[in-house]
Amino acid sequence: MKNAPLSLAFCVGIVGLALTYSATAQNQTPKKTPESTEIWEPVPPVITPGTNSAATSGTTAPSDAVILFDGKNTDEWVAIKGYSPADWEKTNEGPLKWPVQDGVMYSTKGFSARSKKEFTDFQLHLEFKTPEKVEGNGQGRGNSGVFLQGRYELQVLDNYNNPTYVNGMVGSIYKQAIPLVNPSRKPGEWQTYDVVYQAPRFDKNGMMIDYAYVTVFLNGVLVQNHAAIRGTTEYIGYPKVQAHGAGPILLQDHGNPVGFRNIWVRDL
Ligand code: MG
Repeated sequence: MKNAPLSLAFCVGIVGLALTYSATAQNQTPKKTPESTEIWEPVPPVITPGTNSAATSGTTAPSDAVILFDGKNTDEWVAIKGYSPADWEKTNEGPLKWPVQDGVMYSTKGFSARSKKEFTDFQLHLEFKTPEKVEGNGQGRGNSGVFLQGRYELQVLDNYNNPTYVNGMVGSIYKQAIPLVNPSRKPGEWQTYDVVYQAPRFDKNGMMIDYAYVTVFLNGVLVQNHAAIRGTTEYIGYPKVQAHGAGPILLQDHGNPVGFRNIWVRDL
């Protein structure tokens, strides 16, 4: 018992120190910048994918799939400005005018593409190719993206001999989940994404009670293994939790003409 006063004084001191530190830390919170959420190391190993699947003209959809692009037209899509939910939920710029050439549609014209149909849990297949003529570097080379439910970006990027922050490279869930490996093909070659996506769950008050989860194969190689998605894709700052229901597939226009073909979804 005779040590009690000393213990009490010690505890008061610790609490005081903690409060002081907390106040100091809050005062020194740095301004949020895009760079503050970039991660550069360790770099996922570069591997060479097998040659079977994407070297052909693409697989065809299974019989129960919803076909979003079969090479003929962009009827399943509308044009939108921007690609954050704050942008696309309010806009519909009418029919998507992305050019379709030889069965391929190309991101361009300053508009992103939003599917007319919306999905909750699903399997997604699509094929993409970044420009054969290499221009730009880092995030400026062959950048597009597949926004799952319009909110969570699976990055599309030419990462063939093109370093960038690893939580923004191809196969990443942008600034949330780093890919396990980098199985990129060369610029201009067809690449495949196969995605299994489980939507986040919210209670009736809009509280998130389970994360979204995603498993992704890039060129047949596992790059995301049931990765948790904790909130919206943000260029600056941390993911935000926003309750939502079914959502579209959104293809990003980031100023680079990235080709897409053979896009289909199976509801789960
Ligand atoms: Mg992108």
